[in-house]
Amino acid sequence: MMNTVTKTHQIDYTILNDIQTQGIRLEGKQNLSIREGGAGPTDHKAVSIFNSTLMIPVLSLSAKESPFTVTEPTKFGYASLKKDGETITTIRFIGEPNFYKEKSSDGIPLWKIARLHSKDVLATTVLQNCIRYKEKETSCQFCAIGESLKNNTTIAYKKPYHLAEVAKIAVEKDGITQFVMTTGTPASDDRGAKILFESVVAVKKEVNIPIQVQCEPPSDFSWFVKLKEAGANSIGMHLEAVTDRVRNKIMSGKAQVSLAFYFKAFKSAVEVFGRGNVSTYILAGLGDTPKEILEISKKLIAIGVYPFVVPFVPVRNTPLANTPSPTKEFMHQILDPLGKELAIAGMLSSNLESGCAKCGACSTLSAFEKKYAL
Ligand code: SF4
Repeated sequence: MMNTVTKTHQIDYTILNDIQTQGIRLEGKQNLSIREGGAGPTDHKAVSIFNSTLMIPVLSLSAKESPFTVTEPTKFGYASLKKDGETITTIRFIGEPNFYKEKSSDGIPLWKIARLHSKDVLATTVLQNCIRYKEKETSCQFCAIGESLKNNTTIAYKKPYHLAEVAKIAVEKDGITQFVMTTGTPASDDRGAKILFESVVAVKKEVNIPIQVQCEPPSDFSWFVKLKEAGANSIGMHLEAVTDRVRNKIMSGKAQVSLAFYFKAFKSAVEVFGRGNVSTYILAGLGDTPKEILEISKKLIAIGVYPFVVPFVPVRNTPLANTPSPTKEFMHQILDPLGKELAIAGMLSSNLESGCAKCGACSTLSAFEKKYAL
């Protein structure tokens, strides 16, 4: 019996990692609505597979050549997942939520204000502009924050009442369990903390759901206390790349904020939000080696920060559009030992209060945690 359980888990996390790094091809001409461009996971579909929900690339370069294909989904979203033509299992595409049909009190479609991520996460980019994005030479080369604005699929600034309205309706109509609020970085010392603070205050007045805020480290760390007191349960401050070599090359604007300053901010934020409820997004595949990512991840775990390592997926119309995603072997080299470190530290995705690390759909890291937490 023990062997069966162990084997099932082994199959799950290995295949999940393979699918997420390689993506899936859609057989035939399928009518799936796919979010294109923007911040966060783009060109992906949310898919339930083996009791997990993952954001799977369907439009990326690797997806076009992936050995994984899916059949035309039924009206409930079910489809057969195949590898090299052989059926592996049944998966379910997460459908459009009900709140997408609604509008704000000033007539803006709610899908332009916030999106469904995974199966039950409401996500928004409060400010759809970024000081880093204006100059192509210094912008983060993986970022597509301006694309959805160009395509008129979002609005430039989601006002606090917009967010409160969408949160209330999404909870009522779709059972949303948490709200992740990220933002482009404005040209102010608070780095977006102020507009996130105003957003959290407005949402919490309307509905009591866990909220994660995401921004660059503000110059004044008292913002962490203000955000927590407003009702944010967790904060993400995203490194993306972990060495100065890669930071300077891929995100030279953001690299002006030193790693030392990030660590100072992390320590201060952990004092306010608690262990694990401070996290950082690390994009594997930008040039940092698995060893470098693991080394910094260990340092992060030691100070109570959850390193959410996700495979880089190139997004169309960005400078890195033709950069390949990391291989499944590359991701395995990181996620397996990292899952072990997190399990040993007792810092499991399932124990966190809110945020990307809690959602976990952009990485298979939590599946590797489970392997060692058994
Ligand atoms: S991990 Fe974060 S970015 Fe990815 S689907 Fe979940 S909430 Fe969205």
